[in-house]
Amino acid sequence: MFFDNASTTIIDKEIMNQLDMVNEKYFYNPGGLYENGRKSRAFLEMCRNNVYSAINASGDDDIVFTGSATEANNLALFGLLKKNTRKILVSQGEHPSIYNVALEMKQRGYDVDFVSLTAGGCVDFEDFKNKMTDDVDIVSIMLVSNETGAINDVSNLVEYAKSINPKCIFHCDAVQGVGKIKVDVDELGVDMLTMSAHKIHGCKGVGALYIRKGVKLKPVVYGGGQENGLRSGTENLLGIFTLSEALRIACTNLENNYNYVLELKKLFLNKLSDFNLEYVVHSLDCNSPYIVSLSFLGCRAETLLNMLSDKGVCVGNGSACSSKKSGNRILESMGRSKAEIESNLRISFSKYNTLDEVALLVEKINECVSAYLDKVR
Ligand code: PLP
Repeated sequence: MFFDNASTTIIDKEIMNQLDMVNEKYFYNPGGLYENGRKSRAFLEMCRNNVYSAINASGDDDIVFTGSATEANNLALFGLLKKNTRKILVSQGEHPSIYNVALEMKQRGYDVDFVSLTAGGCVDFEDFKNKMTDDVDIVSIMLVSNETGAINDVSNLVEYAKSINPKCIFHCDAVQGVGKIKVDVDELGVDMLTMSAHKIHGCKGVGALYIRKGVKLKPVVYGGGQENGLRSGTENLLGIFTLSEALRIACTNLENNYNYVLELKKLFLNKLSDFNLEYVVHSLDCNSPYIVSLSFLGCRAETLLNMLSDKGVCVGNGSACSSKKSGNRILESMGRSKAEIESNLRISFSKYNTLDEVALLVEKINECVSAYLDKVR
């Protein structure tokens, strides 16, 4: 049973069934000047159009396909960085692909500040207001936390940031939001936005960066000048197709999937409360239902995770993209105790999980936590 869907997801069958056709018809280099090359180029642009529609971007804006959301995040921040960039503001809750970029910028001598989180895992608006001074040139705040599912009020943050420095560029890592909750770049007001295919049943190794018209970026990957010069390298058309299709499928079923996954989350929490276990839930009711972060006090997360794995249950701890690194930074910023951090697990659902699986998951958790505590007591 797979409950680590925030780390990755299985590719939709509907997409897999089309891959042979895409390969046969469009394996040609989209840069090729012959007819089949032009057809592959047209197919690539059709995929790009699907991405525009999924996030309500205007045709004047740009979508750059990248080799991952990590790369898109790097492109967003390093692409903006100039010698005279004054200040960069990111949150404590960011994924390592933003957080570590910010640390690297700090290392290079830039003025970087980190906004703290509330107990519920959202960006602390008061702290944001204090740190969002008129010399902040770059802001990056995620839409949905990959650790807790907390949803930031990005449109409000953008509005405030622009009221202080209208020229600041606001980037948003929406990897855990796109295809799961409504994402409309105009409603959010962001200048750039990152998404990833493999979190929404596309394939791994494909990301995209939305760039609003007028935002000037420099590439981080130089070469043949593909993707409007912003990401050189022959386009991964098959992978890009999976992103485009995954977005189309996810956005068509957004509400149904959301309600279904919400039902899974509620069942999970209800069933869990039937057992006599000591645990703390870090995810609020208003969070994305796709992610639940919780701690089983007295249990070391990694051991518990391995016990569950032995019973055929996959769950996550901390940021599963970087496997062993725990989400201490995020839970710490939320004011959680060491005991809570050490015992933190992340359960993340997908549309493919069933209610029966969730019931079984809770039983397995109860068995493992009880066995663990019996052993140590
Ligand atoms: N941003 C967030 C919020 C994520 O959850 C992840 C992956 O877990 C990433 C970025 C990186 O995505 P990718 O695996 O496509 O590089």
